[in-house]
Amino acid sequence: MSCNRHKILFLREQIPSFECVPGCHDCCGPVTTSSEEMARLPRKTAAEQEAALAELNCVHLGPNGCTVYDERPLICRLFGTTESLPCPNGRRPAELIHPLAEKAVHQFIATTRQVLV
Ligand code: SF4
Ligand code: SF4
Repeated sequence: MSCNRHKILFLREQIPSFECVPGCHDCCGPVTTSSEEMARLPRKTAAEQEAALAELNCVHLGPNGCTVYDERPLICRLFGTTESLPCPNGRRPAELIHPLAEKAVHQFIATTRQVLV
């Protein structure tokens, strides 16, 4: 397992989970992710990606919400768990992410090559 893969798994564990509004996708849109996370997502054609981007959507958004929920990028996981990325529908975990963990997530994103999902 690559070093980044270990980091990703570790960071995922630091991000608290919570229940979203079923089927909600209000915080979805074009996002970027590391190549390691990208490699675990289903491949989409250039045409599918362009169509999603044209509507400012994420290519993995389906009619019932995220179709890659278990493998969604770190930035998607972070959303709603910190005051800086609040859920517009008021959903949140019992305890927000620890500031050091949030900083580590942002640092990982800032120091890895990011690609458009
Ligand atoms: S975090 Fe909030 S806005 Fe985003 S999917 Fe969940 S309920 Fe919807
Ligand atoms: S990967 Fe899933 S959660 Fe993230 S923006 Fe796309 S549809 Fe939304």
